[in-house]
Amino acid sequence: MDNADVVIVGGGLEGLSIAWTLAERGAGSIAVLERDTLCSGGTAKSSSIVRCHYGVASLAAMSWYGVDVFENAEDVLGTDIGFRRVGYAVGVGEENLAALRANMALQRTLGIEVLEITPWEMAEHWPTMHLEDFSAFAYEPRGGRGDAYLTGMAYAGMARKRGARIRQNTPVTNLVIGKGGRVVGVYTASGDRISAGTVVLANGAWSVPLAAPLGIELPVRAQRAQIVMVESGERLGDAPVISDLVSLQYFRTEPSGELLVGNSDHASPEYVDPDRYRNRADDCFLETAAEKLAHRFPKWSNPGIVTSYAGCYDVTPDYNPVIGPAEVPGLFLAVGFSGHGFKLAPAVGRLTADLLLDGVSSDPAVKAEDFRFGRFAEGVALLSEHRYLGAGEMR
Ligand SMILES: Cc1cc2nc3c(=O)[nH]c(=O)nc-3n(C[C@H](O)[C@H](O)[C@H](O)COP(=O)(O)OP(=O)(O)OC[C@H]3O[C@@H](n4cnc5c(N)ncnc54)[C@H](O)[C@@H]3O)c2cc1C
Repeated sequence: MDNADVVIVGGGLEGLSIAWTLAERGAGSIAVLERDTLCSGGTAKSSSIVRCHYGVASLAAMSWYGVDVFENAEDVLGTDIGFRRVGYAVGVGEENLAALRANMALQRTLGIEVLEITPWEMAEHWPTMHLEDFSAFAYEPRGGRGDAYLTGMAYAGMARKRGARIRQNTPVTNLVIGKGGRVVGVYTASGDRISAGTVVLANGAWSVPLAAPLGIELPVRAQRAQIVMVESGERLGDAPVISDLVSLQYFRTEPSGELLVGNSDHASPEYVDPDRYRNRADDCFLETAAEKLAHRFPKWSNPGIVTSYAGCYDVTPDYNPVIGPAEVPGLFLAVGFSGHGFKLAPAVGRLTADLLLDGVSSDPAVKAEDFRFGRFAEGVALLSEHRYLGAGEMR
């Protein structure tokens, strides 16, 4: 391979969604270069929760598009990608009730199905949950849980069918700069030069050293995220995924019946080298998770921790992605998904193809300018219109 119309650096979920969408839309020759194996980065660790609960309209609209793709995956992507429509609910205390309702109103303006339910109604789904410190839940019956790895691999398969070339074990070491400072290709670790009309960086926090020699300082860092797998000792079934904004945790059932538990308290983020971080939860994390779960499920008689692991979010200062052209011609950025890029992925492919092929977003509800790289230099953060007290920027 010595040239392609579009070279995508990074074979994770976002790069593969972009590859398929571009191939599907006849964008010419597409190449994906992955340094390791496909979906081995943040995608492999994803909790893969699907929700449209956002205080940024563009993100809610992108998630809603994702729901449609996930529900119809067998038609769109030709296979079961593991999405299960078990529902999603975010629960808040009195202090966040107004924000919850404002976010639901925003969702409804976009046609998103969401309803407010009481803690007692939630008890029908989660009978052993302690619910008295919740005031209300925003419940999305079409939300749920998926599988980022299966979804990424489905995109890869479909992209290949459409003629995209995907190379694993092919690290990109440098971008090639041509006349007028335009990015005209990449160099790989084996010394090969691949010319490109456009290079898309879709490689998370690893994009930073590739952009730096061009004078582009990407504000993307790797933030460690710890996950605990719990055996509850009782049959949980297909209960809705819960974002618990009272205790600042989230949990979802696994197909195996175990409970996947993650942290929603980002008051003290731990920034790490994405190639060197501890892939186990720390003891203090396990203690806090156990305390929060004991509070939330006091009736569980014999719960136990099955295992734990850690992944990295590729976070930006406002915890929202950069999707758009870089400051230099020939370079496009799709990075910084900040721990919520799974459900956005179908729309990321669509928006990237829209911008590369037509220059504008095809969905009026998705404002491309929201995701521009320049917002950081301008000091205009992309933030929720209705923020939750205590929940940080992850909302
Ligand atoms: C613990 C955890 C829980 C999450 N939970 C959710 C959730 O519930 N819901 C949700 O919506 N999102 C969630 N996310 C976020 C979501 O999974 C990610 O945003 C998404 O998977 C990121 O995909 P990506 O393609 O941008 O990055 P990655 O999957 O990290 O892919 C980037 C790829 O680039 C490759 N690469 C790096 N450098 C180079 C190079 N120089 N040359 C070639 N290849 C290179 C890497 O090997 C990697 O495969 C979670 C993430 C984590 C870590």
